[in-house]
Amino acid sequence: MIYLDSAATTFQKPPSVRAAVQRAMERCASPGRGGYREAMLADRLLYGCRERCAALFDCEPEQVVFTTSATHGLNIAIKDLVRPGDRVVVSGFEHNAVMRPLTALGAETVTAGERLFDREDTLAAFRSAVTPETAAVVCTHVSNVFGYVLPIAEIAALCRERDVPLVIDAAQSAGILPLSLRALGAAYIAMPGHKGLYGPQGTGILLCGRIPGRTLLEGGTGSVSQELTMPEFLPDRLEPGTANVPGIAGLDAGIAFLQCAGMDRIRAQEQRLLRRTVAGLLELPEVRCFAGPGQSGVLSLQFAGMDCETAAEKLAAQGIAVRAGLQCAPQAHRSAGTLPEGTVRVSFSAFNTTREIDCFLRAAGRLREKER
Ligand code: PMP
Repeated sequence: MIYLDSAATTFQKPPSVRAAVQRAMERCASPGRGGYREAMLADRLLYGCRERCAALFDCEPEQVVFTTSATHGLNIAIKDLVRPGDRVVVSGFEHNAVMRPLTALGAETVTAGERLFDREDTLAAFRSAVTPETAAVVCTHVSNVFGYVLPIAEIAALCRERDVPLVIDAAQSAGILPLSLRALGAAYIAMPGHKGLYGPQGTGILLCGRIPGRTLLEGGTGSVSQELTMPEFLPDRLEPGTANVPGIAGLDAGIAFLQCAGMDRIRAQEQRLLRRTVAGLLELPEVRCFAGPGQSGVLSLQFAGMDCETAAEKLAAQGIAVRAGLQCAPQAHRSAGTLPEGTVRVSFSAFNTTREIDCFLRAAGRLREKER
C-alpha cells in the first residue's frame, strides 16, 4: 500500500515507537499512584516525555498536558475561554474540532480570512475582526485540507497586542513547523500526538500558556487527594484519571525519532515530494490541483467529471490510500469554493518516497483512462 494520508494520522510509525509501547506495557503501572518500581517507572516515563515536549515547544514541562487527541485539547481550551454568546474570531480554514465546540457553546463566530494561500489578506482580516469585544481567537496553523500555512506568528502578535487569548490548532503543524509557546504567547496550543509527532493514535498534547479557570474533566490525580476540587496547578489540573502510559511512551519515541531525523530535513523531503506531485499533476489536464506558495505537505485535488469519493476508491483499488470528501473541515471548503463536492487529499510523511509519488501519478493519470 502507498500511504498518502498522513494528515489523518501517520500510519507508518518508526519501529522504535512500537517497541516503546510494548516496553511500557511490560514494565509500567499507573503513574503518580504508588512508590513501587513499576509506578515510579511510569512516572519517570511521563516526566521524560513532558521534558522532551517542553524542549521541542519552548515551554516548561508543567505546561505540557497529555490529551487523547487534538480534539480533546481544543475542547479543554475552548470551553475554558468561551461562554455562550461570546464573540470568537476564527480563520476561514477551521476543522470541525474547532467549529463544533464553538457551535455547541453557542458562541458567535466571526470568520477572518477566506482567501486560500493569501497570508496578507488573512492577516488584514484578523486585524479588522479582532476587537476589544473578542473573547478569544481560535486559529488553525495549517489547513488540513489545503496545506495553507496561516500567518500564525503575526496573528499571535496581534492577539498579544490587543490582549485577546489565542488558541492555536497545531494539528497539521506540530512536528512539521517550529512552534514556540513562549514566543507565540498563546493561551493554548493543541496538537495530536499521532500525526507529525509519529506517536500512536489516542495521544495528544495541549500546551498551556495559562492555568485554566474551568476544567473539562474532574477526577483523581494522585495529588491533593483530600480536596474535592481539582488541583490548581498544571499538569494535574487537566490530567485526571489514569494516563495512557503505553501511548505516551510511543509518543516519546515518536518525538525522539523526529528530533534524531531532524524536523527540517523531514520537512524538506516532504516539500520535494509535494513539488514532484504538483508538477506531475499539472501535466494531467483533467486534474485541478490546489497548490499555492508556502504550502505544507498537504495537497487537495479534483478530477474533472468524477466525484472525489469515486476517485479515492479507484486509487484505493490500485493500492493508494488518500482521503476524499470534506476532511471534517466544511468551512475550509466553503472558503475555497469546493463545497459541497469536496476534494481528494494527498499528504506526506517522513516515510514517503519519490517512487511512491511516481506510482501515485501514474495511477492518477490512469483514472479517467479506465473510465473511457
Ligand atoms: N484540527 C485539524 C486541523 C485536523 O486536521 C485534525 C485532524 N484531522 C484535528 C483538528 C483533530 O485531530 P484529532 O483527530 O487528533 O482529534
